[in-house]
Amino acid sequence: MESKRILLLTTPNSYRDAAFLAAAARLGVEAVRAVDMPPALASCGEHTLGLDFADHDAATAAIARYAAARPFRAITAVDDSGSLLAAHASAALGLPHNAPAAAEAARDKYLMRTLLARHGVPVPEFRLCSTSDDIAALAEHAPYPCVVKPLNLNGSRGVIRADDPAELVAAVARLSALLGALEPGAGPRPFLVERFIPGFEVALEGLLDGGRLRVLALFDKPDPLDGPFFEETIYVTPSRLPAEAQAAIGECAAHAAAALGLRGGPIHAELRVNRHGPWIVELAGRSIGGLCSQTLRFGTDATLEELIVAQACGIPVESLGRAGGAGGVMMIPIPGAGILRRVDGVEQARAVAGVEDVAITAPLNNPIVPLPEGESYLGFIFARGDRPAAVERALREAHAQLRFHIQPNIPLLSLG
Ligand code: ADP
Ligand code: CA
Repeated sequence: MESKRILLLTTPNSYRDAAFLAAAARLGVEAVRAVDMPPALASCGEHTLGLDFADHDAATAAIARYAAARPFRAITAVDDSGSLLAAHASAALGLPHNAPAAAEAARDKYLMRTLLARHGVPVPEFRLCSTSDDIAALAEHAPYPCVVKPLNLNGSRGVIRADDPAELVAAVARLSALLGALEPGAGPRPFLVERFIPGFEVALEGLLDGGRLRVLALFDKPDPLDGPFFEETIYVTPSRLPAEAQAAIGECAAHAAAALGLRGGPIHAELRVNRHGPWIVELAGRSIGGLCSQTLRFGTDATLEELIVAQACGIPVESLGRAGGAGGVMMIPIPGAGILRRVDGVEQARAVAGVEDVAITAPLNNPIVPLPEGESYLGFIFARGDRPAAVERALREAHAQLRFHIQPNIPLLSLG
């Protein structure tokens, strides 16, 4: 029988690798990792390829050279960083995958909004702007409350709410500084201004198959996300929304995926629900980020990543039904900037009834940066129970046990 091999596109420190590698191993699929790295370091080894993901042609050529001797069943990105390259390289190698244009639309917030609006998917009023625009004039005409956001960052990085012109001017200055620091010398940068959508936020995990959406899990986000920054904290599944609201959310996500041209593989959608129904915040052609997928199990004991790898490699799975009662995760937010020196209370947090694990992922003695500039969490708390309310309670109680000792940044003293 032909051996099954998958290429996983990833980054050097991705939270997602371990779960995908474990999934491949459980399915008897050989996993090769392609890691995004500077062109000078790019290389090919036995089970790892170093590739410059930004250079689609060179990276695709390197993948094709490797695949000539050791062909792949599928090329799959573990997160957003490799989703475009996965589409391009799959197309070049004749492997089934979403069209590159769809992968692009699922990564670029302006393209996404444009396609969703064109296909009649409910999205807020939006406007493409540039850091070189006349921001005072923009502030005069913006719809309030609104949010400013970069086109392709993640984890709410750079997303800031503004309730009036003065707040908008300040938000754009802050976003410009962040974009400038991320890419010095890049010149004017585009960003979006959108009307703020009030409402309750949910996250939908789904799998597309030939354009049909199968909802794998719907998470409630019970903490209010009203800004000015949008720290994700608690996710709990199953949703406690009424069945009709959940059905409308599923239809809205399916409509959005079709509008972007996504037809296969995982999607992760965020929506807000209010008296007008569901609105798409965004829809990505990937699975849930961080370590959050640990809350999910399917069929007898399959992980989310097993479903994704199995689908990509054409391996039948017994069931896509979610198992294991209610589950939840808290992404532990960073309360302030500084150096993380010590974390107390981890054992007490783990001892809270219903808590499955507490993972502190931020390294000690390193700088930590809160939103809107930061891009990570202190760690994750996982809980399981009979009911969503009990899971939410366990997460909050465990979080209350944790004490983070953060030494605030001190301005450098002048030695002169
Ligand atoms: P990212 O890709 O960084 O996660 P999103 O566009 O998903 O960026 O925004 C992050 C969060 O900010 C959302 O989950 C939501 O809570 C909030 N948000 C973004 N856009 C809006 C909006 N138009 N109205 C209300 N909240 C928003
Ligand atoms: Ca998001």
